[in-house]
Amino acid sequence: MTIYNHLAYLDNASTTPVPQYVVDVIDHYYHCEKVNVHRGMYKLANVVTQQYEGVRQKVAKFINADDKNQIVFTSGTTDSLNMVAFGYALSHLQPDDEMIVSVLEHHSNLVPWQQVAAKSGGRLRIVKVDGKGHLDQKQLTKMINRHTKVVSLAMVSNVLGTYTDMRPIAQKAHEIGAVLVVDAAQAVAHMPIDVQKMNVDFVAFSGHKMFGPTGVGVLYGKSELLEEMNPVRFGGEMIDQVTSRSATFQPAPLKFEAGTPNIAGVLGLGAAIDYINGIGYPSIMGTDHLLVERLMSELNGLKFVTIYGSPSADDHKAVVSFNVEGIHAHDIATILDSVGVAVRAGHHCAHPLMDFLRTESVVRASVSFQNTIKEIDQLVVGIQKAREIFK
Ligand code: PLP
Repeated sequence: MTIYNHLAYLDNASTTPVPQYVVDVIDHYYHCEKVNVHRGMYKLANVVTQQYEGVRQKVAKFINADDKNQIVFTSGTTDSLNMVAFGYALSHLQPDDEMIVSVLEHHSNLVPWQQVAAKSGGRLRIVKVDGKGHLDQKQLTKMINRHTKVVSLAMVSNVLGTYTDMRPIAQKAHEIGAVLVVDAAQAVAHMPIDVQKMNVDFVAFSGHKMFGPTGVGVLYGKSELLEEMNPVRFGGEMIDQVTSRSATFQPAPLKFEAGTPNIAGVLGLGAAIDYINGIGYPSIMGTDHLLVERLMSELNGLKFVTIYGSPSADDHKAVVSFNVEGIHAHDIATILDSVGVAVRAGHHCAHPLMDFLRTESVVRASVSFQNTIKEIDQLVVGIQKAREIFK
């Protein structure tokens, strides 16, 4: 049983539940240790600074980064991607240079690049996906050329649940001197992220999608790229020397963390990593797959249900989107709520993908390892109820 009591919570792609352990760590900070970091001369300030910096080390180990200074704390995936777009890409793009994203990106991994294109005179190119929701690798290979400066892709789609292997793309991008940015928002709760194995340049993810608190996230960047990247926020904490007319900045990652950081959030993120490590990705992935298999086999058996993307459970990393013939996605979600099932319905911050799928909205069921087969069955009962009501 989760914090949602009797609600079958199948909206984990929006945000995941937070275990008591994570709440306790945050609670402890506010009750017993609420001091600022990096600036106190007293013992408690040093203790909390060490805890805060300890989480940086923990995140580095979690994603196999080789240096804790490659980890920037942000407010979430959106913030991390904006930082790369405006702090790195904008200063590296000349008119006629190109950036590549795919049609399945969340708006967070599209709109910042549109803005950079508009400001720099660069061009944003969009890769398609195939009928099963996989990135069109042939088109991507053709698209990457000597003008390409940035390729930015979701590791797991928040609508189709498809996974993209970043290794071959990183290799192609690096051959022509482009950087590969990975939006790992939907991957991090479901599979290990190994930045060295993938050899990617930047990775973004959010604490609240991996059993942690809201308002905290991570940007990983290779050291030399973080060095080149400009801060996009300025103020206290990130500076080295300041005169009335100018300032110099701290080295990465501190130059990107202006102002008092989300200390409770960072400590909660550390606790969420402990929580995931305690369960282990093999177990998480096994349970995710069992749940998705059941969901896909049930939905594939309902003639009036259209599943978006692949018909195979293997191609859905914890996310399945569908529509029911003749019933609006919002009506399905409302009826599911009436039988105690929480799903999301709408465009899922992916308007271009909705256009590509030729629909305005879809119902999205997204699982975490905390869900049960019974909850999947409850969803299927709800869909059948909706069908009866709208017959
Ligand atoms: N990228 C993907 C694939 C997402 O699913 C989301 C959120 O749903 C985001 C980016 C944005 O994450 P956040 O709202 O935590 O910044």
